[in-house]
Amino acid sequence: MFTSINPATGATGDSFQELAPEEIELALQRAQDAYRSWRTTPLQKRTQLLWAIADKWEADKPHLAQVAVREMGKTLKSAVAEVEKCIAGFRHYAEHGPRYLEPVDVETAAGHAAARWLPMGPVLAIMPWNFPYWQAVRFIAPTIMAGNVALLKHASSVQGCGQLMQQLVSAAGAPDGLFQNLPIKSDMVSDLIADQRVVAVTLTGSEGAGAKVAQAAGRALKKVVLELGGSDPLIVMPSADLEKAAKTAVTARVQNAGQSCICAKRMIVHQDVYDAFLERFAAGMQAVRVGDPMEDGVEMGPLSSIEQRDTVLEQVERARAAGATLLVGAEKIERDGAWMTPGVLVDIDPESNVAKEEIFGPVAAVYKARDIDHAIELANDVPYGLGSAVWTKDDAEIERFARDIEAGMTAVNSLLASTPEAPFGGVKLSGHGRELGPWGLHEFMNLKAVMFA
Ligand code: NAP
Repeated sequence: MFTSINPATGATGDSFQELAPEEIELALQRAQDAYRSWRTTPLQKRTQLLWAIADKWEADKPHLAQVAVREMGKTLKSAVAEVEKCIAGFRHYAEHGPRYLEPVDVETAAGHAAARWLPMGPVLAIMPWNFPYWQAVRFIAPTIMAGNVALLKHASSVQGCGQLMQQLVSAAGAPDGLFQNLPIKSDMVSDLIADQRVVAVTLTGSEGAGAKVAQAAGRALKKVVLELGGSDPLIVMPSADLEKAAKTAVTARVQNAGQSCICAKRMIVHQDVYDAFLERFAAGMQAVRVGDPMEDGVEMGPLSSIEQRDTVLEQVERARAAGATLLVGAEKIERDGAWMTPGVLVDIDPESNVAKEEIFGPVAAVYKARDIDHAIELANDVPYGLGSAVWTKDDAEIERFARDIEAGMTAVNSLLASTPEAPFGGVKLSGHGRELGPWGLHEFMNLKAVMFA
């Protein structure tokens, strides 16, 4: 059994029966059967289904949002925004999918060829709890468009979200087996990857899970996309609009209670504006309204679990033991549930172990940089390379950052966010492969060269 726990109260919610081995076998059979017919469906039929799914989600928006709040504690406002983003994701592939799948003519020495996008089969996705719908939709929408079939192993804590997604996709008219939510434990994943009916695998989650899944995929010689952790830098240079930079840095750090892979986690500030930025940023972090995630005006709810909260508090203690100063916050709030206040750490030794880790909670590390070279050096001095943000009005600096920050994304004078149109993914230990846009659609397709004389 999987049982949801409301992190705002500690109360036990719904339970979900784990699939038995024979039910997993049936699900795989269903996926294979669905693929046999879905692979040849006209593109128009696929886009019709995506439009219909978007409409179902639109109609069920409040319910979807409430289930996410109850299972992982995000604010109702942000849960609604997440559902809206999912709807935009389904509509994006419905609108642009056919163009992304147009064949490309290639001249060859012998005549010409057509590079055609063909589906591959059932794809397994292993997804985390932090954006329980959006992480899954950015896999499900392109999978349906591609002519593939989707199998989801969702995080144990958000099985209600997984079940609801399957219900809505089915209610929109998806054929049986096109998208199946599998309530299974992570120890079943290797066997699924090894199964001949599963052709590829994608995982969004931690490095540890990524390494296990990549090993299983490697053994089976199957393609894998990995969207892993990040410790994103947000760099502030002297020409930056400090008010906006500090305000955005607060939003970036506390969104989703700090549990986003592309939250800005390390603020790297030029020495000339360090004090002025820090004053604004620390005040902003202290002013964040923490409270019942269902309530209007609340900016941050609990963390997703007591375990997650305690991991963050333990990282703060290790940072302090390594010489860092806790400037504000990062305190446990004594009430039922997984509560803490946002915090700011300064004077962190960039070489300490904790400085190299991802802090998956609302605690920022602020560093002082001597100049642009030092800022880039600090930005790149972690094993991750997912997102980044830079605040400067200087075009030459923007170009330096865009070229030299080791990351899959750089936001300029703005909050970094994923969007259906742009590629999303990382380098280094943040993983490999891309989601969203045509790139995400093409990841799990067979680009066949059809050669003509
Ligand atoms: P996690 O523990 O790795 O869990 C993610 C998923 O992997 C869950 O479904 C989990 O199942 C499963 N899993 C765990 N161990 C596994 C194993 N050995 N084999 C197969 N599956 C396994 O990650 P998390 O702590 O929930 O999520 C936070 C991490 O995800 C952070 O590092 C964050 O940065 C990263 N993340 C990355 C992105 C991105 O796009 N790059 C986006 C969001 C989050 P159970 O729940 O059943 O354990």
